[in-house]
Amino acid sequence: MSNTLVMKFGGTSVGSAPAIRQLVAITRAAQADWPRVIVIVSAMSGVTDTLLKGAAQAAAGDESVPDRLAEQLRARHNATLDELAGEGQAADARAVIDGLLGEFHALCHAVRVLGEASPRALDTIASFGERMSAPLVTAALNAAGLPAAAVDSARVVVTDAVYQSATPDMDATAARAAEVLEPLLAAGRVPVVTGFIGATPAGVVTTLGRGGSDFSAAIFGVALGAAEVWIWTDVNGVMTADPRIVPEARTLPVLTFREISELAFYGAKVLHPKTIRPVVERRAALWVKNTFNPGGPATRVIPDNGHAAGSVRSVTAFRGQCILTLEGRGMLGIPGIAARTFAAVARTGTSVAMISQASSEQSICFVVPCPSTAAVVRALEDEFRLELARRDIDSITSSPESAVVTVVGAGMKHTPGIAGKIFSALGQAGVNVAAIAQGSSECSISLVVAAADADAAVRAVHTLVQTD
Ligand code: ADP
Ligand code: ASP
Ligand code: MG
Repeated sequence: MSNTLVMKFGGTSVGSAPAIRQLVAITRAAQADWPRVIVIVSAMSGVTDTLLKGAAQAAAGDESVPDRLAEQLRARHNATLDELAGEGQAADARAVIDGLLGEFHALCHAVRVLGEASPRALDTIASFGERMSAPLVTAALNAAGLPAAAVDSARVVVTDAVYQSATPDMDATAARAAEVLEPLLAAGRVPVVTGFIGATPAGVVTTLGRGGSDFSAAIFGVALGAAEVWIWTDVNGVMTADPRIVPEARTLPVLTFREISELAFYGAKVLHPKTIRPVVERRAALWVKNTFNPGGPATRVIPDNGHAAGSVRSVTAFRGQCILTLEGRGMLGIPGIAARTFAAVARTGTSVAMISQASSEQSICFVVPCPSTAAVVRALEDEFRLELARRDIDSITSSPESAVVTVVGAGMKHTPGIAGKIFSALGQAGVNVAAIAQGSSECSISLVVAAADADAAVRAVHTLVQTD
């Protein structure tokens, strides 16, 4: 509805009592303009990692580490709660947190006995972070005089059973969202919803993938017909590069959906890639803002309207990637080799970040996450057993760990010589480029560099950025 605002607060934005005070102030201010405000929360910063580390230690046979981590989590949540809410107001949240940490203990025990954690078990374990932060934030809002109610999105977001990367069923989710959230909104309460998680129709908890709370915000935005979705994070919106790598990075006040999609897909963690599509389709306004500088620079994501300010607008690095190369002079004569290559890759369930084929057709190279390389090489060796035996294909090789550096800008297609400038900037920085590909939308160029050169490459290309 045109009077509905969905605001998502990331891990740092709920990571401490002062951060949650900011969240409370932001929510209070938003309520002045928006009759219906929905808050989506991530787990407190680092908590999802801690939970998954506990599960991994349990799978490795360790009993004491998960328990020690649970105690740390209990202490951190309770201390934050003490700072924000009085004993009475904190009681519900404390009980929920205790219950969840009890479940964490039991699940880690089961994982230790089994000697492994299934993706399904990992999703339940990972879900505890958001299921602890939502009641905590709710208590803080209530204590500040803003009536709020915690909502477990496992009751609302209906997904398939693809653990660790579940996809929502939007119709079923919209129906549940109306059922669960409308009565709260009608009663003047702010729903504080867990990001990141959903459940199968049978009620088994799933997650939307790491960083998935942004996606949750989009899902709720669409399900409730929100006019705007605001992603509150710990930097001034989407910037010309990750400010952790490039300290002089600047905020991009406006970015097209296509540009932000490329950036998100190629590793700009500031917005989860799956967030963008549902919001574009509904034409809701999407903003990325800084919780710690609410009136400061922010980014508005706009539809692709031919607006093409600047040429190089932002640069990002996607790490942990390996290049696979199929090579052989006989490849020229084999029909459908690319189709067979990517069908074989798809059978392993691996997603390909980038493809580049030399015009000679004597080699194909593409980029996959390093942990998938062994499985992909096996699948290719199976597919091309005959061709390998005949030496039509000489080799299937994988590179050491690399990074895909992607340069984004909708205006690049109108600017001649961009690739040349990128190469000379990289050359001057002494960075060697192993492969290159241009996005089909012509709004991005991706280059593969050695893992150790990723930061230098980002900094070198950043010197070409134009923001106006
Ligand atoms: P949250 O917990 O709020 O979801 P994330 O850590 O997932 O926050 O994403 C925010 C982080 O994304 C920033 O702290 C920043 O280091 C990183 N980042 C990477 N690329 C960019 C970029 N182009 N602009 C802004 N931040 C970026
Ligand atoms: N807590 C989840 C994660 O760390 C989801 C999120 O923060 O977006 O991946
Ligand atoms: Mg995030």
